[in-house]
Amino acid sequence: MGCGAEGVTKAVLAAAGVVAEHRTELIELDRAIGDADHGENMNRGFTVVVAALADATPETPGEVLKIAAKTLISKVGGAAGPLYGTAFLRAATKAADQSEVDAQAVVELLRAALDGVRARGKAEVGDATMIDALTPAVAAAEAAAAVAGADIAAVLSAAADAADQGAESTVDLVPRKGRASYLGERAVGHMDPGARSTALILRAFAEAAR
Ligand code: ADP
Ligand code: MG
Ligand code: MG
Repeated sequence: MGCGAEGVTKAVLAAAGVVAEHRTELIELDRAIGDADHGENMNRGFTVVVAALADATPETPGEVLKIAAKTLISKVGGAAGPLYGTAFLRAATKAADQSEVDAQAVVELLRAALDGVRARGKAEVGDATMIDALTPAVAAAEAAAAVAGADIAAVLSAAADAADQGAESTVDLVPRKGRASYLGERAVGHMDPGARSTALILRAFAEAAR
């Protein structure tokens, strides 16, 4: 079964909801190893995304993703805004003008998002960034989509599980990109806020697809 503009809108609204709900948690994660603004940056951006979607009548998944991308790029400061904006923009471009996406297409959108974040931020797995959540998520989504009869919910739920583990893995890593890298070894023992927000957003997508 495919998912059209309405389903993708529902998923993005769910992401906004989870970001609002976890705003303080993301602020506290960023306070430990950064500048304590990740929860606020993300919440501000997604609040405007919700308003932008309410004002628009997107007709395709790509149009929904493009509205989210443009809003995040223009409204979210810091490192995460342009990175998340790029993720949504690459996914939007990949979705092109398809009226619906299926499970396989969702994998392709996730892969495009990952490629965009990598191109923009130049981080690799192990650098303790959102890449540590998103990379295993894409691999897990791909594996899940290869199972006969896999639907979008199964693909996204596998992605969210892998992202949770990936975010958890950043606790033991020495950050090599972004603000947290200034702390070096002193950042060990703390989860990367962007990896956590990526895992939260993927979980919200998975729940929305159920
Ligand atoms: P800032 O660090 O500018 O205050 P945020 O706090 O909103 O921005 O976002 C920080 C998050 O951005 C980090 O936790 C990390 O996941 C992510 N990040 C930072 N730099 C990079 C990068 N080069 N590549 C991928 N992700 C990055
Ligand atoms: Mg910050
Ligand atoms: Mg900042």
